[in-house]
Amino acid sequence: MNRPRAVIVICDSLRGDLITPADTPFLVELSERAARFAAHRSVFPSTTRASAASIATGCRPARHGLLGNTMALDEGEGLVCRSAGHPDFPDRMRRATGRTLQVPTLAERLRWHGEISVSCANVSPGAAYFQDPDGHGFVYHAAGSYGPGRLPVEDPASAVLKKGLAGDRAMTERFCAEILEERAPALAIMWLSEPDYTGHHSPLGSPEHRTAIAGADQCARQVFETVRRLDPSGSEILFIAGSDHGMETVARAVDLDALLVSAGLKRAPDSRDVVVAPNGTAATLYFAEPEGALVKQVARFLEAEDWVGEVFIGDRLRAVGLPTDTAMRVAVTLAGEDKANPHGVEGYCPIVQDPADNESKIGFGQHGGLGPNEQRPFLMIEGGGFVASPRHQPTSLVDIAPTVLRHLHMDHDDMDGSALARIVR
Ligand SMILES: [Zn+2]
Repeated sequence: MNRPRAVIVICDSLRGDLITPADTPFLVELSERAARFAAHRSVFPSTTRASAASIATGCRPARHGLLGNTMALDEGEGLVCRSAGHPDFPDRMRRATGRTLQVPTLAERLRWHGEISVSCANVSPGAAYFQDPDGHGFVYHAAGSYGPGRLPVEDPASAVLKKGLAGDRAMTERFCAEILEERAPALAIMWLSEPDYTGHHSPLGSPEHRTAIAGADQCARQVFETVRRLDPSGSEILFIAGSDHGMETVARAVDLDALLVSAGLKRAPDSRDVVVAPNGTAATLYFAEPEGALVKQVARFLEAEDWVGEVFIGDRLRAVGLPTDTAMRVAVTLAGEDKANPHGVEGYCPIVQDPADNESKIGFGQHGGLGPNEQRPFLMIEGGGFVASPRHQPTSLVDIAPTVLRHLHMDHDDMDGSALARIVR
């Protein structure tokens, strides 16, 4: 018997309820022969970069330390909100906090055993690099590819990739032929840009969005067929297909900086006393004086706003998987509305306006919060002894890493997640 391997395909943003025979024939077929986790949840904030770190570490943001798609960092001149998607963000994080992620990734854990992980990603540089920010395995991305030691590697195949279906298809071809067939690493991860990319730029359930969903389904099929050609019995290669979060339809945009300034709680839109980190349908707020009175004043102000769903402060942060001892002291998830968009897709939610992004998002998809549809990623696991059946116990992104490590016969303790049961009891 050959050594065990694991293959993960992430269809970014694909909501569990948008898996249908018309749009995703492969995933519907797979759900018949795989373990399907029907109550699978994302993390908070339900953003791609925090999710990538949670899939990689088996831990929630409280422990891995990447608190969303944006984070306020103090690099010596006060708190400034930064995009974690930017290629230079891991270095900024290292300067501000002394490290990147605070717990080991799958890539690092594999290296302890002399094994290698290979990740191909067509998402933001941040989401790609936070799977392995310190360079234990290979990460291939258009913004730059790295090998062990975080040494740059020439990778013309990734350099030309653009987000969207054409780029996803080209990445899938390469992933199957070169990574899975030739290099055969112990862990191979492929992260598609769709249907997230189109979902952010068109209405959920629109013809464009459904075409993107169908394209992601075809890419997942190609990987699965390659995997099962290499290992027809399913005893060696564990196959995991899933998404990182779902989406809600954007109802309106809230300028939280302006609201805080007009309420007398923030000196100026770009002041550093309280700094808003917009995360789509959620926001995290950082304070120059984390123990100061302003924290509670801001929380009280937010609790009275009609666009706010829930405010988290103190121990309530811990309950949603966020730290309680950093400059980030308040988090909010915005108030969703349970109604269908013009294409029959449920769920509206406001977003917090990101000053760094002027594009209108109204009527398109977004995520970041705790809304029922954005907290509805899908997860299916086939091979590696997993018995085909629907599972109704709640599961989370953080259960993926320990499940992979158990299959690879490696330690998988000291994580927030647990290895998922192969057999229904
Ligand atoms: Zn995502």
